[in-house]
Amino acid sequence: MCGFIGIFGKDDVAADIYISLLNIQHRGQDAAGIVTFSNRFNLKKGDGLVRDVFKKKNFSYLKGNIGIGHVRYPTIGRGTSTDAQPFLSNVPYGIALAHNGNVINFYSLKEELEKDRLRVLNSSSDAELILNVLADEIFNQLPFSVEGLYRAVEEVYLKLKGSYSVVAFIKDKGMLAFRDPNGIKPIIYGVKGDSFAVTSEDVVLHTLGYKVVRDVLPGEVIFVDMDRKIHHKRLREEKPYPCIFEYVYFARPDSVIDGISVYEARLNLGKELSKRVQEKSLDIDLIVPVPDTSRPAAVALSEELGIKYREGLMKNRYIGRTFIMPYQEEREESVRMKLSPVKEELLGKKVMLVDDSIVRGNTSKEIIQLVREAGAKEVHFATSSPPLRYPCYYGIDMQTRNDFIAMDKSIEEVRKNIGADSLTYQSMEGLIRAVSCNSDRNFCTACFNGNYPVPISEVDLKRIEIDRASK
Ligand code: SF4
Repeated sequence: MCGFIGIFGKDDVAADIYISLLNIQHRGQDAAGIVTFSNRFNLKKGDGLVRDVFKKKNFSYLKGNIGIGHVRYPTIGRGTSTDAQPFLSNVPYGIALAHNGNVINFYSLKEELEKDRLRVLNSSSDAELILNVLADEIFNQLPFSVEGLYRAVEEVYLKLKGSYSVVAFIKDKGMLAFRDPNGIKPIIYGVKGDSFAVTSEDVVLHTLGYKVVRDVLPGEVIFVDMDRKIHHKRLREEKPYPCIFEYVYFARPDSVIDGISVYEARLNLGKELSKRVQEKSLDIDLIVPVPDTSRPAAVALSEELGIKYREGLMKNRYIGRTFIMPYQEEREESVRMKLSPVKEELLGKKVMLVDDSIVRGNTSKEIIQLVREAGAKEVHFATSSPPLRYPCYYGIDMQTRNDFIAMDKSIEEVRKNIGADSLTYQSMEGLIRAVSCNSDRNFCTACFNGNYPVPISEVDLKRIEIDRASK
């Protein structure tokens, strides 16, 4: 899971890209990069948070009115600095590219590309692979035309499997954006006068003063030529499978993705969760969110149940999100650094903690322990999503099939393992009702029920699991 912004503006765009990356930092904390174009590509990328990668001096050479920025969360690949995006290709014309998602046939396609086309990829990032496939296909369609570009992207769709929301700039031709045929990852564009911006979450557009035009549709290409004319064509009309976990956990609550408010979806998750809690005869004094993602769900749950809502856990804002950290040691170390209990609220109380999900259970266990140590009489646990049981191959690094606590355990066994007095999960139906806001929508729910919208071959699956396990 990553985030990106592409801007075709009037003046230098690096500062706007920098601000945008700060606004989508939650989508990736591993690496960041900006490329601008001013007769040549000017690139700066590196490991770490946006504020650590870019120094004031970098902006003296990040010149140009066209640029792309990216924050990286490692999915495929080693996660080293060579995997940071954007990537550049010299041929044809010169292309810069960044993406969000995960190409699931990365390893087989990379081997094919290196063997048949005598290329070498210098990173283990699927963005470099997408760039090379796209560059090849644009080359095959020369001389350049918009229709030729559409044909090139159609070929890309035939080759790449998985999720990919892509932004690219082709020197002297224009800015290009496209979304995989199932629309798994978000991508939205807006305009300000005749400036154009395309990004992962609409909050970025609002911050920059752009008017949101719309989400890029699954299987659609948007192309802005050098005269700033916007062309678009839907190349594939397959069943959409946008990621439901964006609404549960990943996206900012103030974002609207594919027409659904993330905040509203999270409130609905709390309302739906209240039905599950009411099925049990629990005596609860306080509803306490595990900050920050679950806050709207906890507010709605408290309203529905008529039980007091309190902030019983305080978050150190300057520690990164634990789930997003790629390595287990970092995750374990950071829970206590990240959260501290408000003893005055918790002492002697029967508390229900509300979180968005339980992955491995270690984090939940540690939080429950924290709250007990702060003097809570009972600690109940509720999650606004159903049990996570299957890995995501489309962009969230949920490790291998064996890492999910709910994979081979009953709910009672999970409860015992995390040390809660009771454990309440969201139902699958409740999740879908909540996120769809009762409209007729379809989502990817594979991490909950194993129904993968884009099938993955056993060979590719094994390669991804080996790669993840080796981290
Ligand atoms: S498997 Fe889960 S996290 Fe991955 S895209 Fe599907 S819903 Fe989202």
